[in-house]
Amino acid sequence: MFSDELTKIVSTTTSKIKRRLAWLPRSVPATAWVNLASNCASYALRRGRAGKLPSMVKIDVSPLCALACPTCLHADPAGRNRPLLDAQNFSSLDRIDIAKFAEIIEELKGRALAVSLSYYGDPLMHPAISELSRIAANTGVAVHITTHFSYNWSDAKIQALVESGLSHLTVALDGATQDVYEVTRINGRVDFVINNLRRVIEIRNRLGRSIPKVEVQHIRHPHHDKTERERVRAIADDAGVDHFITFKGVRYDRDGDLYNVVDSDAGGARSGTALKSSALPRCHWPFSSTVIKVTGDVIPCCMWREGQQYIDNGDTRSLGNVFDQPLSEIWNSPSYQALRKEVSNPSRHGKIGSFCEGCSYLYESTPRVGEFNEHGELVEAWTAQ
Ligand code: SF4
Ligand code: SF4
Repeated sequence: MFSDELTKIVSTTTSKIKRRLAWLPRSVPATAWVNLASNCASYALRRGRAGKLPSMVKIDVSPLCALACPTCLHADPAGRNRPLLDAQNFSSLDRIDIAKFAEIIEELKGRALAVSLSYYGDPLMHPAISELSRIAANTGVAVHITTHFSYNWSDAKIQALVESGLSHLTVALDGATQDVYEVTRINGRVDFVINNLRRVIEIRNRLGRSIPKVEVQHIRHPHHDKTERERVRAIADDAGVDHFITFKGVRYDRDGDLYNVVDSDAGGARSGTALKSSALPRCHWPFSSTVIKVTGDVIPCCMWREGQQYIDNGDTRSLGNVFDQPLSEIWNSPSYQALRKEVSNPSRHGKIGSFCEGCSYLYESTPRVGEFNEHGELVEAWTAQ
């Protein structure tokens, strides 16, 4: 029994490491190793000052999406009685300017290990996504994209993405057939997704390239029957993907409605008492990574205050703007350093008005759906198989 458990842990860990290796550049310059080492040292020693730049950067190349998944900021608010969802405002012009993107990448060159080209939209909504990917890849940084991939794309367009130097592509596939898929991927076409998945791998292999590594991400939902996961896996295997990952979807039906990310909005009543310090800082994000929005605003993570980022006059609590000052200045600004102190010891340094105020990593709160309660149990109202 013990050896079974051990084998399982070793196999899961190996698979996770293999998956993440695809997020690393082919060759990491010494300066990027030094930067990573500085960030890790700051984390371990709870320093306010980190390395010169974050090691991983999410860049919101476009917050737009043609789908309307019920859990997302892009969900259709009609009849859902969620004013914050109603207030989301995604302008059709919200696509990052290529020259400004190039400036961000130029600053990251030789320091960051990877960029991920999304926050709360689908990166392929940017008409120049292959060019953006190429600009980033040409500096040696690893480039990652997550997409629903429900597009009617030509072979030429897929080939351009493959040839851009993209390192890693994650494709969300929630169901094997349209009837199942469209329950959560509203407006999506599963035939487009599967066709694109096959072609991206065929084209990559035909060109004799080893990247992008392609992964299918299957979120298990309560409406799936027990065979759904294996049906999706069979599609992924048939296409020849490099990785298949699956996890449980966070959905509930508390009031006869589905969970939406705005339900956890920081504006709600969940400040709670600040937690005491632990062996290591309670969150690694302010030491390792950052998020740059399409507006240039910098926020420390993609896991909190999402509902505030795209509304007019939202309480975004951004830490600066890369179109006004270098990211390196923002990354080690007094506000960022204060945030590192806060995640290192929230009960001493917790600050009203900070981005992290109220986050359950740092503050006691009633566990929300999708979080763990004091018994280590996942809070959910529906249970997927
Ligand atoms: S595909 Fe992603 S960004 Fe688009 S609606 Fe669904 S969850 Fe949101
Ligand atoms: S809001 Fe929470 S998850 Fe985000 S950086 Fe702060 S502590 Fe980490």
